[in-house]
Amino acid sequence: MTSIIDKIKRAGLVGRGGACFPVADKWKMVKDAKGKDKHVVCNASEGEPGVKKDGYIIEHFADRVIDGMAIAIDTLKADKGFFYINPAYYKKYKALLAKNIAQSGAPIEIFAKPHQAGYIGGEETTLLNVIEGRRIEPRFRPPYPPTAGLWGSPTLVNNVETFYNVSLVAADEYKKERFYTVAGDCLYENVYQLPEDWTIEKILKTTHNYPNFPFFVQVGGDGSGEALNAKQLDRPAAGAGSIRVYSLSKRKPQELMLHWAAFFSLESCGQCTPCRDGNLRLKEILSQADPDWPTVAELLDNLADTAFCGLGCAAAIAIRSYVNNVLATAPETAVNLPKGARLAICSCFN
Ligand code: SF4
Repeated sequence: MTSIIDKIKRAGLVGRGGACFPVADKWKMVKDAKGKDKHVVCNASEGEPGVKKDGYIIEHFADRVIDGMAIAIDTLKADKGFFYINPAYYKKYKALLAKNIAQSGAPIEIFAKPHQAGYIGGEETTLLNVIEGRRIEPRFRPPYPPTAGLWGSPTLVNNVETFYNVSLVAADEYKKERFYTVAGDCLYENVYQLPEDWTIEKILKTTHNYPNFPFFVQVGGDGSGEALNAKQLDRPAAGAGSIRVYSLSKRKPQELMLHWAAFFSLESCGQCTPCRDGNLRLKEILSQADPDWPTVAELLDNLADTAFCGLGCAAAIAIRSYVNNVLATAPETAVNLPKGARLAICSCFN
């Protein structure tokens, strides 16, 4: 009989939390890991701004998500599962989840992520610390959770959409689709379930959200997602599958960059200097009337190269890609900047 891990491998499932790690490989690591008391965690923290698909999946397919977790608990001979969920979703879906967990009979506990865990509380090793009641910050890696996760035991951490897909694979109903959050300056903001290999352009056109004005998009999250210009849409949506549309003329570049820097400054856990101080300095510089652009570019390089965890590294993505992909390619007259400023900024980012 074909094992569920073989079926997942054949289906080509990848994690839908953003990192796209092959699901079968992760399950096999936990299965093969030595150690008792294995655990399964469903990550429903969905803290990336603008990404709403996990909430949508819980609302419409809670039974499938719980079924995917139950399959994991059974396959990996795990002791227990934790449904790690952000406070807003906890309030909204607690009863629905409790009902589905009871019906499944699986040993799953709903764990409400505390408010103070914030954005970093969704990072894979930070959530282990949160469940254990430790300081809210990422752990050193290795060891990785599949070999040493919760209380040092092998632990599988997968996202809501991943467990939903596992349930479909187990029932031979998986159709190689994924969920996309489409929002911003478009007509029909929503979560859409569409083929996983569709390009961003096809998604926007099919959902009648392709703008008829100069625009750019941010893909993979409104905080850490990459900004792309209208000629770069011939690729699938990366990461958590969100697409935010921005009108080019409506946005003020410096305000937008400050918005991104302020978000990461607020959400930094403070454990490492490049992220704690780097994001704070970025915010200060971008708040000035005439920012020191070479220092902005240098701080972003420093973040990307030396931050301890993915949050710090990702903090550089939005601003850098916005400058290189959007500002550098837009006509001078299409962006909200004084004459000559666009070129001056872009020259610092080469
Ligand atoms: S990069 Fe450093 S300070 Fe920022 S969230 Fe990660 S560990 Fe914390």
